[in-house]
Amino acid sequence: MIPATTFKGASVAVFGLGGSGLATAHALREGGARVLAWDDQEGARQKAAQAGFEVVDLREVDWVSLAALILAPGVPLTHPAPHWTVGRARAAGVEIIGDIELFCRERQAHAPTAPFVAITGTNGKSTTTALITHVLKATGRDAQMGGNIGTAILSLAPPAPGRFHVIECSSFQIDLTPSLNPSVGLCLNLTADHLDRHGTMEAYAGVKEALIAGTTGTAILGVDDRWTAAMADRAERAGKQVMRLSTRGPVADGLCLEGQDVLRVRAGAVVGRFSLAGIGALRGVHNAQNAMAAFAACEALGLSADEIVQAMRSFPGLAHRMEQVGRRAHVLFVNDSKATNADSTEKALASFTDIYWIAGGKPKEGGIASLAPYFPRIRKSYLIGSSAAEFSATLGTWPHVIAETLDRAVALAAEDASKDGARDAVVLLSPACASYDQFPNFEVRGAAFRDLVLALPGLSPLGGTP
Ligand code: ADP
Repeated sequence: MIPATTFKGASVAVFGLGGSGLATAHALREGGARVLAWDDQEGARQKAAQAGFEVVDLREVDWVSLAALILAPGVPLTHPAPHWTVGRARAAGVEIIGDIELFCRERQAHAPTAPFVAITGTNGKSTTTALITHVLKATGRDAQMGGNIGTAILSLAPPAPGRFHVIECSSFQIDLTPSLNPSVGLCLNLTADHLDRHGTMEAYAGVKEALIAGTTGTAILGVDDRWTAAMADRAERAGKQVMRLSTRGPVADGLCLEGQDVLRVRAGAVVGRFSLAGIGALRGVHNAQNAMAAFAACEALGLSADEIVQAMRSFPGLAHRMEQVGRRAHVLFVNDSKATNADSTEKALASFTDIYWIAGGKPKEGGIASLAPYFPRIRKSYLIGSSAAEFSATLGTWPHVIAETLDRAVALAAEDASKDGARDAVVLLSPACASYDQFPNFEVRGAAFRDLVLALPGLSPLGGTP
């Protein structure tokens, strides 16, 4: 745990008592603050009380006596409307921050040169965060991974020289971190997302750019979209050290892609090259962007190109994101349950040929119409969930069957794929839908797929992340 000492002796409100809120409360208490904990949910309040915290209805307190409001990142700061605690804090002139801000203040106070990597972007954050951490650990370094990826940042070990903090930051978290100052900052890409929370694309991009603006060492930017490309130009004009990553064309300085090879370019000259071929957990152009980002970050942290590339080869990938579950003869089984919309599923369909595709669930607007260019790669589709009739209509004469449930879909797809003569047949769960009609969440859906696959006779497991 990282004791948050900056509010020692002061009273601080913590609103939102999920995993990171409770970790924040512990860290503040350990650091000597008086914590007033509250949540709109009774269950969360009870948990905090059981952990010995003072649960206080923040509607009843004198806000002027508080030093800060620490907000959980899921609580609206601006859109669609500020949460009621935000209104109270603003009226009383109380600063509103998040747990990553507390981390930054601790680092600044106790270990300002400790290596700190912060990762943001619309897509690929978790993969890149996990990959950087994997490379650091595989090469014998002390790497602490947390933030939006799951582990609350304040439950990690404290910043120290030689200890690397690798932190995934959502835009909500950046919004709550005014002194975000990573030694290495990454912004992978930017596409319209979460506009319900930020209002406009400009506002959303502005929040992401704050992470780059605060970067003290190398700023690493994917430049495949116009938003991040413009950010890179601005960062450079501001005098920052900038590394550009492009999967679409050449770069003068940075990394670009040539087939499955990543080229390291300096002043227009190719000075290094490595191949992503054969790294099963990093298939697809989207993962090439993540791999380039991780390479650039580790290089900026002082690792050699050889040790980075060597370590990347053993990256197991993240669960539910094109996770290789197992193989039976020539058939590979892939769990991409995290793909809850057509855009994500497109990445998986683009990464394989000869696909036995399990899809469906609670449909999103637009369904799978945008995936039509990939239908020729799909040998057969196995439709599950409430979207089955709609997806069946979109697939038209392309071979498909309404399997209804995941267990039937896996059994049918496994049987059909094993009869296929293709060398690279893949049974792919990439639903392009939310899971809520048949499963509590995408993790449970992916775990169910994994269990069904691992129970197939003759299957060899591939050690993806459990
Ligand atoms: P995030 O943490 O940003 O949600 P993940 O690494 O968990 O991202 O990946 C989630 C999904 O986003 C993946 O299953 C894939 O479909 C897609 N994706 C991953 N990396 C990228 C990328 N660099 N560009 C575009 N899409 C990506």
